[in-house]
Amino acid sequence: MPESLSIIIPLYNEQDNIAPLYEKLDAVLPTLGHPYEIILVNDGSVDETRERLDALACRDDRVRVVHLRRNFGQTAAMMAGIDLARGDILIPMDGDLQNDPVDIPRLLAKLAEGYDVVSGWRKDRKDNPIKRNFPSRVANCLISAISGVRLHDYGCSLKAYRRQIIKGVKLYGEMHRFIPIHAAWQGARVAEVGVTHHPRIHGESKYGIERTVKVILDLMTVKFLDKYAQKPMYLFGGFGLVSMLMSVLSFLFMLYCKFFLGKSFIETPLPQVVVMFMLIGIMAIFMGLIAEILMRTYHESQDKPTYIVDCTRNCTCKREP
Ligand code: UDP
Ligand code: MG
Repeated sequence: MPESLSIIIPLYNEQDNIAPLYEKLDAVLPTLGHPYEIILVNDGSVDETRERLDALACRDDRVRVVHLRRNFGQTAAMMAGIDLARGDILIPMDGDLQNDPVDIPRLLAKLAEGYDVVSGWRKDRKDNPIKRNFPSRVANCLISAISGVRLHDYGCSLKAYRRQIIKGVKLYGEMHRFIPIHAAWQGARVAEVGVTHHPRIHGESKYGIERTVKVILDLMTVKFLDKYAQKPMYLFGGFGLVSMLMSVLSFLFMLYCKFFLGKSFIETPLPQVVVMFMLIGIMAIFMGLIAEILMRTYHESQDKPTYIVDCTRNCTCKREP
């Protein structure tokens, strides 16, 4: 029995992309010889996305639709699709026709070589070079250096991975791009395959340069949580000890200047200003981490979802009308 596929597509105000997207999927998926489902997640759209998705679900029972109560963001919407997916292989992609379903067979062929995750690489990216491509290059270099998982394009939504990869992974923020990293850290085999990228024709991109900042901050959280989630004291305690050592050393230095050189830095405000800004910066980062850890505990202990489903079509769900 061939492995079944779940294509997962978050959509936020993509009314004009839905029909051509479905056509493109329908031209490729039935030829693959795998059973499949298409999960379309309406992430609180305010255009006609809702009605058009419902109409599709009526026509084709392989199309399963989830409407989220409001806009929760691309990653949360993807998570909603992942939670619902029944396939052995999950294939997320964008719903704006920038990813092309014709690349799916190549991703599957790579998986069949024995990889657990295959990530799309937009070699010729068709987005704004200054607002999107350049910041994304910088982010990709940083992610590669910090995570140690060498890919060229983490941000490409089009990926394919085996269902077990996602077990225990909760996605929020900008974290959909870190799926290959989580997987590689757990020992999964990760590959990258060049994919086509089209310019957006209908609708607008929902992101600008601020996304890169979010990605980098999320990266820090991912890395620190992976390393220190079990023993935060190694991090905070280590930092505290270094900081105490610094203060002792500077105190000794001041004593030395005063008694042996007869000079005093104490009268100038400069040392305080430098130290103060440095400490405030560092404290802010650590407080961010603590907040992040607390938020995680909070979400997990309360089982607070990262999204809320309004209603579904073609999904067995209590609320289905
Ligand atoms: N998206 C979403 N919720 C959001 C923002 C985006 O579901 O809050 C979807 C969007 O409809 C598209 C995909 O995520 O299918 C990628 O979004 P976009 O094209 O705006 O991102 P870009 O291609 O510019 O990175
Ligand atoms: Mg796009």
